[in-house]
Amino acid sequence: MADAEITDILIAGGGPVGIMLALALRGSGASTLQVQVDPTMQGERPIALSYGSRLLLEGVGAWPESPPTAICEIHVSQQGGFGRTLIRAADCELPALGYVAPYSAIHAWLSAADAVRRGLDGKVIGWKPAADHIEVRIGLSAGGEARRRARMLVLADGGHAGLEASGRDYGQHAVVADVRTEQAHHNIAWERFTSDGPIALLPYEDRHALVWSIDAGAVRGLLEMPQTEFLHRLGAAFGSRLGAFLGAGPRAAFPLALRRRSADPSSRTVLVGNAAQTLHPVAGQGLNLGLRDAAELARLVGCTPNAELGSIAFLTRYSLQRKLDRAAGIHFTDVLVRLFSNSSATLGLARGAALALLDVLPPARKFLARRMIFGARGLP
Ligand SMILES: Cc1cc2nc3c(=O)[nH]c(=O)nc-3n(C[C@H](O)[C@H](O)[C@H](O)COP(=O)(O)OP(=O)(O)OC[C@H]3O[C@@H](n4cnc5c(N)ncnc54)[C@H](O)[C@@H]3O)c2cc1C
Repeated sequence: MADAEITDILIAGGGPVGIMLALALRGSGASTLQVQVDPTMQGERPIALSYGSRLLLEGVGAWPESPPTAICEIHVSQQGGFGRTLIRAADCELPALGYVAPYSAIHAWLSAADAVRRGLDGKVIGWKPAADHIEVRIGLSAGGEARRRARMLVLADGGHAGLEASGRDYGQHAVVADVRTEQAHHNIAWERFTSDGPIALLPYEDRHALVWSIDAGAVRGLLEMPQTEFLHRLGAAFGSRLGAFLGAGPRAAFPLALRRRSADPSSRTVLVGNAAQTLHPVAGQGLNLGLRDAAELARLVGCTPNAELGSIAFLTRYSLQRKLDRAAGIHFTDVLVRLFSNSSATLGLARGAALALLDVLPPARKFLARRMIFGARGLP
């Protein structure tokens, strides 16, 4: 097959990270082909996008004209224990810490910005690296199979390719729903740690978006109980800071696990977004980290001759560039889940002391917030 028939980059997956990559690669000089399936099959969930992600989305023309609900403060506390801290956008000299939007809306902004995408409707079902290209098999949605050659395969498939992964199951599910409270949100996000798991209430339009991490054994009951009982349970776990819980929209649940995957540098394959790391949603890091994966990969492609894409040198360079940010995102999230989903009295005191200390140390709050917003280097 002639060299001209080799696409530079084949992107497997048209989730937000895959589309972000396709957009960021425009103008890089590399040819791309995206293989994707119907995105409406994805489960709806609220996403807290960091201010850093806003800058990345703006950079590729995928930030909406009417901005989503801003998060200007985050209130962190623990149930049944002392200590709480408030992280403010003003502490970081930013207009907002982040924004809340449903997964489908973020997907729609990205898709609208990517009107000329070259794509195939289907799923990547296999691949085989060779000396100067990788042969990719695609199961077409319309039926049948296609084969394409690329210099590099980027897996942005959310981790569905069945690659070996390390990590842990948290034994928790996240229950999500829109909820109405007696008091307005005033652009404050609430993160409350309980012995059963963290509860996040994110400001969303005229209501809150709930992400309630709960023991796997209790999830079915929580999904199926009558609304009045659900609101009562939520009020008992969250407390009365927002007044009474008045109503809730449809509930859905997602199993929670930490998954880390990496590809061999000689495989001509790069992993981005959830394909590389699937995180607990407690710190709202998953998509934010994935968008940074895509942006960094596109930046490296832009300064690499096309013939070197997919080479061991290129894959090693990408992996080194992302190492610190990935490790920080994974460890920060994992430590939060394990420290705060624990009923030990001693740990409760230590957690309370840490929150109280953070509250009286503005530089420490700023340090933490900038890393949650922009990644491990704390810079846009
Ligand atoms: C309850 C919950 C709350 C969350 N809250 C936040 C938050 O507040 N902030 C945050 O940053 N993150 C959050 N996340 C994480 C966030 O949803 C993910 O990190 C993000 O969706 C990852 O995007 P992705 O494009 O990598 O993968 P996905 O969104 O999973 O998209 C992958 C796409 O690839 C397609 N696909 C699968 N297999 C193949 C194949 N073989 N070939 C081609 N295509 C394929 C899929 O159909 C899908 O369209 C949350 C997650 C959950 C579960």
